[in-house]
Amino acid sequence: MGQIINGKEIAANIKEEIKSFVENRAENNKRIPKIASILVGNDGGSIYYMNNQEKVATSLGLLFKKVILEDSIKEDNLIDEIHKLNNDMNVDGIILQLPLPKHIDEKKVVAEISPEKDIDCLTVESQGKLYMGEAGFLPCTPNSVLTLLKSLKMSLEGKEVVVLGRSNIVGKPAAQLLLNENSTVTICHSRTVNLKEVCKRADILVVAIGKPKFVDETFIKDGAIVIDVGTSSVEGKITGDVDFDKVINKASFVTPVPGGVGALTTTLLIKNACEALKNNEN
Ligand code: NAP
Repeated sequence: MGQIINGKEIAANIKEEIKSFVENRAENNKRIPKIASILVGNDGGSIYYMNNQEKVATSLGLLFKKVILEDSIKEDNLIDEIHKLNNDMNVDGIILQLPLPKHIDEKKVVAEISPEKDIDCLTVESQGKLYMGEAGFLPCTPNSVLTLLKSLKMSLEGKEVVVLGRSNIVGKPAAQLLLNENSTVTICHSRTVNLKEVCKRADILVVAIGKPKFVDETFIKDGAIVIDVGTSSVEGKITGDVDFDKVINKASFVTPVPGGVGALTTTLLIKNACEALKNNEN
């Protein structure tokens, strides 16, 4: 029987580190890290994420500024708001809640975020650094995958990793992070031939496809580590891409949904804001 990788527990440890970093700064009269979050319009998902980010950030002692803008805002005015935050010496990290209203060119606007404050790793520059293996902010969901794996305290070097899914926000950057750790990485997608056979080669299988319970025990080899990124809503319940009950008997470790990858992402975003402040001071 495999073991569960407990994302909540790992997040709690990182939160403690962040909290003591912030407390220590406050005690020494040093500036407290500050995040600015821009919300355009009233997308329900974005409002939920922003409020949750605020709740976690402030509970750890950070400052959190909400910039709420009308749905009808002109692209140039939104860019002006971003420039203001870029130039605000008290703001360390900028989060732009996506999606933006249809009349706004998302790529153009994202490109205006200063890379030094791009804690959500949205800009081409931040993503380029990731692919070049250079130091920079790590995107939160792929970084959550890596952090969960690192919590097992085993070397990732030379491990056969299969990433199922090739999106720009999860699959590709997760694969790149693991390649940067010297794993041997294969990326699979909807056109992959013999998908099960490829997945079965994996020492570590990362699944990010958005198909609830798609991966069962027939996809994995004995003792594999399975990281489930999927979060689909099924009958009002958040459900992963992995059929946990079927896989747990064959795998050595599995992440649950909820309580796995998703449990870490906001914490890692806030950690990036602390890193941004440290970088600014250096
Ligand atoms: P996405 O953009 O829809 O990409 C899905 C990927 O899966 C695509 O590369 C697609 O292949 C591949 N795929 C779909 N069906 C497949 C199949 N039957 N066989 C093999 N490959 C298949 O999704 P995403 O944004 O990466 O998100 C993936 C999942 O992670 C979703 O459930 C999402 O909600 C979740 N998620 C969770 C978090 C978190 O914090 N926990 C964060 C972000 C996303 P093609 O490229 O060939 O189409």
